[in-house]
Amino acid sequence: MNDCIFCRIAEGELPAQIVFQDDDFVAFRDIAPKAPVHLVVIPRRHVASFADVAELSADERARMAVFLAEAADRAGLTSTGYRVVTNHGANSRQSVFHLHWHILGGALLSDSM
Ligand code: AMP
Repeated sequence: MNDCIFCRIAEGELPAQIVFQDDDFVAFRDIAPKAPVHLVVIPRRHVASFADVAELSADERARMAVFLAEAADRAGLTSTGYRVVTNHGANSRQSVFHLHWHILGGALLSDSM
């Protein structure tokens, strides 16, 4: 069994509050939100972190950016604004080793990060 929790969410084996998905990407609500709206966006294909983004095809990389904007819009964040961030490695505090983007919004965010 695949022990990557985000692979298991993508495969429907673990529950998640999915906001938007297509054949290659899934956006779902973070289980421990750091903002009033906090989405996690993943490629279905397992890539450990942004450092390995070259493992995605050029087409997947391009569509990932468009998917992020669409997911934020579907969560109602376009007019008020949002932050997109990804973590790689120990100093960033990455805790799930499947490439993912955080979309944070729904309030005025901290300027300290
Ligand atoms: P990172 O620290 O950048 O690796 O972010 C991992 C994120 O995944 C954290 O914000 C967690 O709260 C979130 N997370 C972990 N498990 C789940 C889950 N089962 N469903 C939704 N979000 C999760």
